[in-house]
Amino acid sequence: MTDHAPHSPVSDDLAAAFQIEGWPVRGRLVRLGAAMDKILSAHSYPEPVAALLGEACALAALVGSSLKFEGRLLVQAQGDGPVRYVVADYGTDGTLRGYCRYDAAEVEAASQGFARPGAKTLLGQGVFIMTLDRGPDFERTQGITPIEGESLSLCAEHYFGQSEQVPTKVRLAVGVVQTDAGSQWRAGGAMIQLIAADDARGSTEEVWDRTRALFHTLADDELIDPTISPETLLFRLFHEDGVRLEDARALSATCRCSKDRIASVLASFAPVERDAMIEDDGKIRVTCEYCSTVYTLEPDEVVAAQI
Ligand SMILES: [Zn+2]
Repeated sequence: MTDHAPHSPVSDDLAAAFQIEGWPVRGRLVRLGAAMDKILSAHSYPEPVAALLGEACALAALVGSSLKFEGRLLVQAQGDGPVRYVVADYGTDGTLRGYCRYDAAEVEAASQGFARPGAKTLLGQGVFIMTLDRGPDFERTQGITPIEGESLSLCAEHYFGQSEQVPTKVRLAVGVVQTDAGSQWRAGGAMIQLIAADDARGSTEEVWDRTRALFHTLADDELIDPTISPETLLFRLFHEDGVRLEDARALSATCRCSKDRIASVLASFAPVERDAMIEDDGKIRVTCEYCSTVYTLEPDEVVAAQI
């Protein structure tokens, strides 16, 4: 590889694999710009809550974009802390969405310290869940591990170590950066995994130690800096050994809600529950938790959805 790393057609809002020449290590990189800003701006979350959701989205895209089938990957965490629940939902068509449930006063109290509170402080005692959903014809695959460490990266590393027994390192970063268009939420994520290989140069352990040491030099602000291309980022880390980006795919902030879906959910409620939702003007209003779109329905529309 030369100093002039080739640019992939997608340069932002992307997930891609990377390969270090001759090493038994596979990697993935995610950069989220406009898509991250759209997801987080749809809510008025306190900054630490928005950052936690951003991490979950970057992680869902990192893991989900490696799937070889069509479906969805959900990253969820729930606990007894100020943030009760976070979910990021990745579709293999590159769509992302997510939301959090939290107690505002408790988040405020947890945010008094110098550093932004991390996953463990926000979620408390609880569980980290990864779910693969291949659609109604397949059984869902779910892995659950306790929330470990102060970040979702550590939860994910723990998950891969336990459930898949694959040595894994994960980095996630979320922050607000100033761009020409104003301030924007951005996120970045990177993951390396040791894969079994017989023909690796040197011992596998040495190679893994070296890759981890290089990976560790990756700074949070590099991961989210829009002026550093994905190729440049990887080149800075692994240039001595040759690294190439592969299979880049576009990511978008796209919700799956629709008026029809909302109507069919409401149709499954008992009539007395639905009646209680009718507002003074005779309409029912439902807000999508993921994207904050407000749907206004006539009670007749809900009844029609039952048929
Ligand atoms: Zn929605």
